[in-house]
Amino acid sequence: MSDCIFCKIAAGEIPSNKVYEDDKMVAFKDLEPAAPVHVLLVPKTHADNVMAAEPALVGYMLGKAAEIAEKLGIKESGFRLIINTGKDGGQTVQHLHIHLIGGKAMGWPPF
Ligand code: IMP
Repeated sequence: MSDCIFCKIAAGEIPSNKVYEDDKMVAFKDLEPAAPVHVLLVPKTHADNVMAAEPALVGYMLGKAAEIAEKLGIKESGFRLIINTGKDGGQTVQHLHIHLIGGKAMGWPPF
């Protein structure tokens, strides 16, 4: 989508602090980190949210999240994966993204 900021980041048209990239997805540091480690995993093909995305792609990204967590040094301590979806879910960017958050102990519930 031409006006989608995450499409532009994924295509390299807008700079980002990338920690991972392959032919299907990128992962880059969140602009406003909620924790010491906070990256966003974003598919290169546009999908408005998790419901619009191919399930196989979502599964692929979840597998990569574990790999990226290890690369970022939070595999042993633990981490959280979040997919905000829709208005009540708190989604503010309408392009599927998985938050990978860690580097501190987190509580539950998160709201
Ligand atoms: P959402 O609320 O789940 O949609 O999360 C969107 C996230 O994207 C927020 O955590 C923002 O801080 C982050 N974000 C928005 N624009 C950018 C950007 O240009 N670079 C990196 N992160 C961004």
